[in-house]
Amino acid sequence: MSERQHEQVVIIGSGPAGWTAAIYAARAQLSPLVIEGAGSRTMIPGGQLMFTTEVENYPGFPEGVTGIQMMTDFREQAVRFDTRVITEDVAEVDFSVRPFLLKTSGGTEIESDAVIIATGANANWIGLDNEERLAQSGGGVSACAVCDGALPHFRNQVIAIVGGGDSAMEDALYMVKFAKEVVVVHRREELRASKIMQERAFAEEKIRFEWNQTVVDVLGDDVITGVRLRDSVTDEERELEVGGLFVAIGHDPNTAFLNGQVALKDNGFVETPTSWRTTTSVPGVFAAGDVMDDFFKQAVTAAGTGCMAALEAERWLSHGGAESATVDGAAGDEGGGSNGKDMSGNRRHQGYRTCRGRGPCGGRGGRGHQRADLSRCGACGEGFGLLVPRARARYRR
Ligand code: NAP
Repeated sequence: MSERQHEQVVIIGSGPAGWTAAIYAARAQLSPLVIEGAGSRTMIPGGQLMFTTEVENYPGFPEGVTGIQMMTDFREQAVRFDTRVITEDVAEVDFSVRPFLLKTSGGTEIESDAVIIATGANANWIGLDNEERLAQSGGGVSACAVCDGALPHFRNQVIAIVGGGDSAMEDALYMVKFAKEVVVVHRREELRASKIMQERAFAEEKIRFEWNQTVVDVLGDDVITGVRLRDSVTDEERELEVGGLFVAIGHDPNTAFLNGQVALKDNGFVETPTSWRTTTSVPGVFAAGDVMDDFFKQAVTAAGTGCMAALEAERWLSHGGAESATVDGAAGDEGGGSNGKDMSGNRRHQGYRTCRGRGPCGGRGGRGHQRADLSRCGACGEGFGLLVPRARARYRR
């Protein structure tokens, strides 16, 4: 038996997707392990919400809630249901072996039957000191208009939006409802946004464009009072008075540690090929939240996909996980491909389950010991207790 720590499900990441996945997995008695991240200058455990001041669009909080409080509560709820937490980064993964192998930044080696990737995405910033200072202090600088734009601070102000993509157009159109005027500041004279979004923005009277302009400074002590613009053609600089700034220059999903072992979309987000599913190119590896969502990017949608990933992981495990998976196929419906055969073309043991590390066989199981009693490990006979009946009951609902 391996000396490595063996887990049924490891969740990588600790934003709304990761903690929601943990709550669902823990309540399914999978005793999940969350690797919450070690923290760095640009990202800390809890994810992007830790940099948000007030969250007013998450249902259930009529008075709003701070991002930090919300993430603290998510974490507490997960821990209350027997979630274990490691405050390290995942440095490396090996998804070519079963169980999957993960190495943390602290050198811990962990085996896991299923993995949920919920490492989020970092909003890109221009990289100016005053931009970072006022974003962190809630001084009118943000990277998410849909999250923060309705706050009283931004009402009836001139608002600058930096960027020329769909996000910038969407933010500009969203801010029209609240702002006196919206100024889109773009570094070129041509937008990257889709034609339809461009047309909508051009048609809106309250939106105007500053072409060939880059923001070189953000002005204001406690709150933003303006931005300094530099013309990228003439190099001339001038100030523009604004009462708010939204930076909409894209997001970078946190996928470097995957080292190409899970298929990504062209824009770098984890590919989940089937609609309304969180399965990835590797059976048994699921993705949730902003690391796979390049479209909605909301806390509530991240939490929703975290729930989906945990339910899919639970389903995958209760149907035999890797024991019944086609390793090279796309993730299948029942957590194990769709043709009922293993890689050598042999018929798989349908319905075969192992104790996943709880019993004497160490979760390795074995071939040829299939038992009719599905409440016990097919190899060593270790009982599953309530896990299997409860898991089944959940899917019947
Ligand atoms: P994006 O398409 O990559 O656009 C980023 C924009 O920011 C570009 O215009 C880029 O300028 C600019 N930019 C990048 N770095 C900059 C910097 N350092 N300083 C100033 N400007 C900078 O990102 P996105 O708009 O977030 O969209 C991401 C994806 O989500 C896209 O596929 C998009 O279609 C999709 N999306 C769709 C919708 C929708 O359909 N409703 C809404 C949001 C997002 P350049 O153009 O000069 O490179």
